[in-house]
Amino acid sequence: MLSQIKLYSSSLQKLYYVLPVLHRNIVKVLLAFCLLLLLVPFIAKTNDRMLVIPVLDDPLYIASKEQPFENLNLPDYEWVVDRGDTLGNIFSKFNLSSTLSKIQEADKNVLTLDVINKGDKYLFWMSGNDDDFDGKDIVLTKMEQVLGVEHQVAFVRNGEGYEYKETLLEGVWRQQTIIGEIKKNSSFSRSAVAQGLPVNDVAVIGRLLKSKIDFARSTVPGDKFQIVLLTQYVGDVATGNTKIEGVRFFNRKHVYSAFSYKGNFFDSKGEGLERAFSRYPIKGKYRISSNFNPRRRHPITKLIRPHNGTDFAVPTGTSIYAPGDGVVRRVVRHKYAGLYIELEHSYKYRSRFLHLSKSLVRKGQRVKRGQKIALSGNTGASTGAHLHYEFHVNKKPINAMGNKVPVAIGVDRKSMFAYKKKVSGLIELMESKNITDIKTAGSNSG
Ligand SMILES: [Zn+2]
Repeated sequence: MLSQIKLYSSSLQKLYYVLPVLHRNIVKVLLAFCLLLLLVPFIAKTNDRMLVIPVLDDPLYIASKEQPFENLNLPDYEWVVDRGDTLGNIFSKFNLSSTLSKIQEADKNVLTLDVINKGDKYLFWMSGNDDDFDGKDIVLTKMEQVLGVEHQVAFVRNGEGYEYKETLLEGVWRQQTIIGEIKKNSSFSRSAVAQGLPVNDVAVIGRLLKSKIDFARSTVPGDKFQIVLLTQYVGDVATGNTKIEGVRFFNRKHVYSAFSYKGNFFDSKGEGLERAFSRYPIKGKYRISSNFNPRRRHPITKLIRPHNGTDFAVPTGTSIYAPGDGVVRRVVRHKYAGLYIELEHSYKYRSRFLHLSKSLVRKGQRVKRGQKIALSGNTGASTGAHLHYEFHVNKKPINAMGNKVPVAIGVDRKSMFAYKKKVSGLIELMESKNITDIKTAGSNSG
């Protein structure tokens, strides 16, 4: 075998050397060219990601008895967002650039497409024929944005446009108790994280107890903490969402505590730890030109276009005030929503202000209730100067003029008994854990 190869290669060599110099050079160039051609797919791969056909063993797509495999409506493509991806370049990869604005028009009422995070998944269902590979005859029938195992937004084609459907699974919240003490040369933050508390929740505790204790200055080694934390699961998958049920911090002779009740935080006496919200984000009386209406339809296209907010007929330039303390999460210019701001007040509460003429805040900034944050306007797809104001509870828009907006400060009298009962249950849980359990506290749950 080996001798045969040697024979072949030596005869090839002989053949090569009988060729004239010009022909030898042509052979060299051709060889180099063939090598380059072989490398092209690798070069292209590093610059340009390939489209991915969904993996069929993904738990999302496993056929069940209720939904046998042949009836599963599998997406044609999926796209996992990488650093630097924009919605525009994702759509152009699928030859769907002309469809993007129709999707954005439907997104105006949910605004989930403005924030694009690494790892988010987009699923595409297409129909039509693409024999010309130009994508001209391809129609996007559905696009689904997978924001987490618990949160998906689908944009479904209806006539010439799209309607959105948002799915938020509540899943189950598993309870966990975290206890510990501030170690020498450490801080509350580092000690709590070392015991398994997510960094976000450290910040939440800092804000809740801010008016009572300064964690950066007034804590000393030996101070103890007890925290009851809930972690959200869908099936066996953690969604990454957590919330604090209760916290107690023991500093010298004082105990500082915060307990969650119906989504708001109170101290041991039932006094509110967060400031209540103002009903209106504007001052003075203005006419409401359009009410909250989750079932509204577009008058011409008849597509479902939920009105997830309240419209106030205010002239352009009217001052807009933060309805509660919070952090500015978005300042975005949107084709349809215009210039808009989103505030996050707590895990539970968010507010949005659309069609603004000017923002007076920037992303990441902390704002106080009553702080002037913007000037109203008529930007985006708006038929006249007005403020569109949204209030969200647990990621769902609610009627900001209704009674789900907490405008009261403490636990009301008729809920006090239920509140105290919950607090004593939480304290019992905290006390059931010994300081000797600290080392394993982070991994315990239940
Ligand atoms: Zn509106």
